[in-house]
This record gives sequence, structure tokens and C-alpha cells, in this order.
Amino acid sequence: MPKGTMVQIGANESTCPACGAGDLAFAPILHHMICAYVGPSYDFIETSEGYLCPKCRHGIASGDPACEILGTSARCGACGSEMIVLPEHAQPSTPAPNGAGRQR
Ligand SMILES: [Zn+2]
Ligand SMILES: [Zn+2]
Repeated sequence: MPKGTMVQIGANESTCPACGAGDLAFAPILHHMICAYVGPSYDFIETSEGYLCPKCRHGIASGDPACEILGTSARCGACGSEMIVLPEHAQPSTPAPNGAGRQR
């Protein structure tokens, strides 16, 4: 999958920017910290214990601290286009003022 070419849509949009169909399937984007794989949850292989990373084949239990959700993706059921769903108040250059967040 080519990186950096994903179409982005707003959180309040529900139609495909490529073909205009309203047939989007949303899925969380997961980040597997062990191998740095980033992909939508449907790229991960479902197992009886959770998921399997498609890159490093490590098992991922539900609530695994080595796997975090980065955002939301959407895939058009009509044309197959994949896109990133932006958070409603997307400010990529500004860190979230979250007192409960982790310190570096
Ligand atoms: Zn992995
Ligand atoms: Zn489409």
C-alpha cells in the first residue's frame, strides 16, 4: 500500500471522495509498536486470542499495550478506495493539551 497517498476525509463526512458513494466502512487504524506496523484493523488477522500482526506475525491480545489505536480509516464498499478519517478538530502541529497523557 503506498504511503502518503491516502485520501483524507472529515469525521462528519460519510461519502466516498473518489466515487461519491455513501457506502463507507470505518475501521480503527492500529499501530503495532513492536514492528512499527500501521494499518487498519482489517489488515490484522483475527485469531481466537485477538489479532495477528500482518507484518511481524506477533499475536496481539485485546487491550495489548504494544498496540495502540492511531485513528480511524474508512474504505468505500463501492470502489474500494481507502481513506483516513480526520478527527473533528484536527490540529496536527499542536500536541493535545492532555494532562492525563504520557510524559516523554
Ligand atoms: Zn507487528
Ligand atoms: Zn468510492
